[in-house]
Amino acid sequence: MEKQDKKMKILFILGLSHSGSTFLDMLLSHYTGAIGLGELHAVADEKTTNTEHTFDICSCGEKMKACSFWKKLDGFHASGSDEDRYKAYYQKFIEMASLEGKDIIIDSSKKTSTLNEVLKLQDAGIAEVKVIYIVKDLRSYLQSMHSYYKRQSRRWRPYWHTAWRWNKKLTRMEKNLLDKKIPHIQISYEKLCFETSAVLGEIFEFSGLDNSQFSFENGMCSHVAYGNRTKKSFQGVQDIRYSSEWMYNFWLNVCALLAFPLYKKSQDRFATKIMYREDE
Ligand SMILES: [Zn+2]
Repeated sequence: MEKQDKKMKILFILGLSHSGSTFLDMLLSHYTGAIGLGELHAVADEKTTNTEHTFDICSCGEKMKACSFWKKLDGFHASGSDEDRYKAYYQKFIEMASLEGKDIIIDSSKKTSTLNEVLKLQDAGIAEVKVIYIVKDLRSYLQSMHSYYKRQSRRWRPYWHTAWRWNKKLTRMEKNLLDKKIPHIQISYEKLCFETSAVLGEIFEFSGLDNSQFSFENGMCSHVAYGNRTKKSFQGVQDIRYSSEWMYNFWLNVCALLAFPLYKKSQDRFATKIMYREDE
């Protein structure tokens, strides 16, 4: 019963797809008492597949049906409005994580709509939510998205169009954070790759966690069902690498140069920014 006294902490990763959210989810799952669960919104939406077709295997290496964690969800179903369904599912996730002896859930759902639902759990006193907003540099994002379109054999789109969407979506996310005065930490994907320990330290400090409880030697406690391909390739510190492909993509760089104001915005978003609760 002791465990019930402590409120579950949810580290919610907000950002665009292909911005390193699965990578961050798995990194954070090395923290003592944390469990990385990937895009929980997809589980609550009862999806059965994802775009990269990696759903069959959990990031723990087991087939989804054999995974010790996700087995606990067998036969569970909730319906009703988004609010009711998310509340029921997240309460179930919290119960499942508690059974594993965990007190921190990492949710890389990324979406603003999910964040707003998860924050209602905090208002209801069910969980404590810490928001980590991750931003990938425009140029690196363009490369990732265009490689993704290629893998998916999707129709070709001009770089400027993807760049415009990068800014439009991020601006909308930032507006929601500011309008609702949601405390959060903004981190750069690039910085996370190059200065991993420093950025993780900033995240832990913001989240009220003790940096000394983090170690790569802990191993991961990761059960990402929905997430991108990273969940299959990332095993720990040895797999932290930054893809430099965009640097050698001529047309991408021409576009990034022409979109100078967006390049500037990328630069602004590179800085770690923290917005605390007003009463703190
Ligand atoms: Zn698993």
